[in-house]
Amino acid sequence: MSFLPFESGLSPIGGSTCPRGTALLTNSLLNKGTAFTERERDALGLRGLLPPRVFTLEEQVERVLGNLRRKESPLEKYIFLTTLQNRNETLFYRVMQDHTEEMLPLIYTPTVGQACLEYGAIFRRPRGLYISIRERGRVSEILRHWPLHDVRIIVVTDGERILGLGDLGALGMGIPVGKLSLYTACAGLHPAYGLPITLDVGTDNAALRADPHYLGLCQPRVRGTAYDEFVAEFVAAVRSVFPRALLQWEDFGNTNAFRLLQQNRAHVCSFNDDIQGTAAVAGLLASLKETGGKLVEQRLLFLGAGEAGTGIADLYVAAATSAGLSESDARARCWFVDSEGLVVQNRPGRPLAHHKLPYAHAHAPLRTLAEAVEALHPTVLIGVSGQPATFTAPILRRMAELNPRPVIFALSNPTSQAECTAEQAYRETDGRVLFASGSPFPPVTFGGRTYTPGQGNNVYIFPGVGYGALACGAREITDAMFLAAARRLAELVTPEDLALGRIYPSLTRIREVSLELAIAVVAEAKRSGLATIELPADPRAELIARRFEAVYRDYV
Ligand code: NAD
Repeated sequence: MSFLPFESGLSPIGGSTCPRGTALLTNSLLNKGTAFTERERDALGLRGLLPPRVFTLEEQVERVLGNLRRKESPLEKYIFLTTLQNRNETLFYRVMQDHTEEMLPLIYTPTVGQACLEYGAIFRRPRGLYISIRERGRVSEILRHWPLHDVRIIVVTDGERILGLGDLGALGMGIPVGKLSLYTACAGLHPAYGLPITLDVGTDNAALRADPHYLGLCQPRVRGTAYDEFVAEFVAAVRSVFPRALLQWEDFGNTNAFRLLQQNRAHVCSFNDDIQGTAAVAGLLASLKETGGKLVEQRLLFLGAGEAGTGIADLYVAAATSAGLSESDARARCWFVDSEGLVVQNRPGRPLAHHKLPYAHAHAPLRTLAEAVEALHPTVLIGVSGQPATFTAPILRRMAELNPRPVIFALSNPTSQAECTAEQAYRETDGRVLFASGSPFPPVTFGGRTYTPGQGNNVYIFPGVGYGALACGAREITDAMFLAAARRLAELVTPEDLALGRIYPSLTRIREVSLELAIAVVAEAKRSGLATIELPADPRAELIARRFEAVYRDYV
């Protein structure tokens, strides 16, 4: 298996010849714009369709950066970059790779949140497949409309829980599009291998349904049997049309997310990025290098008991049990506060959702996070509630009284939903906090020291995990693979990172990080007998050679 589907410039649209003329200029995977050489212009019918001067890729990058930096708002920059992506993917990924730290907040969180909110208004041209529940019975046919036939990763959403922004229906497409861009920019997956999909089953967001620019079905969400049958048809269609594709479930509401993952994991190689991918356990492991604490002795308190929260807790339990704790003791170290207070056994009111039950311990009910901090004395506080300003000054101060080095992660995205800002976290803890946030915050200067907090974000995890799983043809993506990835990520945090207050490697190293995680995943797949493709004992060189490099190839 090669990760370069059309080396030597052959058409990725199935044919064996390179398209010519305007068909070539409008093929984003092959287009070089003003960088087509004199020979290519003659041989491929381009003469006259381009201005005469030939530019290098480097010169094009400079022009892109100049134009981009002149734009004032992040949303304008997002529109500019996605337009570039739709025109010339090589140039887009060259810019992404060489300027990752600057570009990531534009094509991913936080700007992608704003872009989704306004997807209807900023819509230029579609990217990916929209499959609506009206097309039940025709899902395979629609998948076959995709012009590329060797899809290896599908990121799919139904738009019900987009970041911490709630139900955005069909506007959620920005997330699968963005995640697939990260697969290429961070791990080197060829862009021709990715397919973003939105399953449109309606939206319960009444404001969207009334919005004249809304792109999706203007009806309430379909739920129950009809929904389940639609998703089952989708999974079956993926298996038959794209049998080599790995499926990433993305931003489903939690009533469906856990169920869909459990039901489908065995049928189709898949994972849920929100439940399994959260990089928080890696951040916790790295924090312990600073606090000197032991993993098995932490007390974790989560605000938010949804996909991300219970997913992080499950991974913590896996890590702690492999370090010698029993499963029940490990679970007893994880506590949750949700919208109705502390998650406890026999809580009055609505019955607890299934995914919360393993973490419902015997305790008196408590209403607020502040009460829970007081009662439980957590060493680690993790925000995954999508609720801003919930880590208040008194809560942050109390964490600092209870712990010489409190570990506090405000992971909700986008920035507007973060439980606290980096500045608040450092200020209220006298700079002692080990802090990470889901979306980036600028450096904070406090007490004469400047802290550059890290981004506790799945971007560190899923590109490497997906790339490794594909490279070795993993039959399944297991929790052990995610744990291997989290451990490797923590190992990659350097003393220099820690000195800056960062418990994740710099994003400038994301290609190297994703490669290391891919290697760890390949090793785990081999160990557990799930690899179907034989790779060398040290697969590093092979994985590097297969990566997509954003450089132009000669077509003639
Ligand atoms: P979810 O809908 O599954 O869970 C949200 C949880 O928050 C629910 O348990 C809900 O009861 C709880 N909640 C809501 N209001 C609350 C309140 N006022 N007080 C306490 N709890 C409250 O969503 P999720 O997938 O778990 O995601 C939650 C947040 O985490 C989102 O903002 C998402 O963007 C973020 N997230 C970040 C990363 C990352 O890499 N940083 C990864 C996944 C999710």
